[in-house]
Amino acid sequence: MKIRSVQTRVVEIPFTDSGKGQGITPTTWNTLETVLVRVEDSDGHVGWGEAFGYFVADATRSVVERLIKPLLEGQEVDSVATWNLRTQRQLHLFGRYGITMFAISGVDMALWDLYAKRAGKPLYEVLGKGRKTRLPTYASLVRYNDTEVAPQICRQAIDDGFDSLKLHEIEMAPIEACHQAMAGQVPISIDVNCSWDITSARDNLQRLQQMNNISWLEEPIFPPEDFAALNSLRNAQVPIAAGENWCTEQQFRQAMQAGAVDYVQPSVSKVGGVSEFIKIMHAADQYQTGVLPHSPYFGPGFLATLHLAAAFPQTMQVEYLYVEPAAWLIDLQPIRQGPEFVLGEQPGIGLSPDEDVIARFLRP
Ligand SMILES: [Mg+2]
Repeated sequence: MKIRSVQTRVVEIPFTDSGKGQGITPTTWNTLETVLVRVEDSDGHVGWGEAFGYFVADATRSVVERLIKPLLEGQEVDSVATWNLRTQRQLHLFGRYGITMFAISGVDMALWDLYAKRAGKPLYEVLGKGRKTRLPTYASLVRYNDTEVAPQICRQAIDDGFDSLKLHEIEMAPIEACHQAMAGQVPISIDVNCSWDITSARDNLQRLQQMNNISWLEEPIFPPEDFAALNSLRNAQVPIAAGENWCTEQQFRQAMQAGAVDYVQPSVSKVGGVSEFIKIMHAADQYQTGVLPHSPYFGPGFLATLHLAAAFPQTMQVEYLYVEPAAWLIDLQPIRQGPEFVLGEQPGIGLSPDEDVIARFLRP
């Protein structure tokens, strides 16, 4: 396919979550920033991608505009994976994790969508063998750091039809309050975003091991790529998960070789796009490691994650960020059934961003 144009836009949609918006991110988090990538081929087919944008949207966008677009426009792309690897080589000076790889991820995703659309097939069908088109999600709550609000939001998510939850709490008091509110009946995972040191991780793990129905502990320690330390935390009762801050199959393979985790968590808009995600799936299969994709996205990144989950059976659950956006960048209603998403036969990633919503929330 010959690429005629590469276009980027940053869309910033406010959201509410009944919390203070503080803790997980460096400054207050109350908008969903999406770096949208639109590629068009010489036949007029269009593919959509999403590069990781939260708090760094302008930087990510500028890498696409300044470095990737000039290398891609006018070029023939026969294999997206080959294009991806070539681009990684060309841009390796600018970092093997972070903004550069976020930018490559978004363009790679758009190229895969385009490729599947040209083939007239849904992306999951182009990708693989599993074809499990009904995908379960769990409600991923933001951090409330409050022993009253956090349990209320847990109840609200269950009332909304979710049957499993993830907390981003880092203190044991709100974690225990939520667990108690659910009476241990609902599977809960705990994501501490690398907040604990190894000693408190060990102590808190012991307390989590006393609680029933804890599905996993996510990113317990800093730095997230300390595979030996992660390995030392593995135990029989509470599985350890990490990976949203690892990049490319190379690093995931090293992590699995080191026995770092029970479950890996690649993020399609950070990890090198669909191409690297596929390779990680094959490595996870080889190491018999479960996959829990990181996907707090509402754009093409969420849809691409669903298609990857459909294509590769080792995916356990998909993350759904439990917040209320002021508008839906992509209307997910047609594929939503309670906590599950059901993919149909539409080509590519299936749905497209809403141009009216883009226009309304476009960042200048
Ligand atoms: Mg996480």
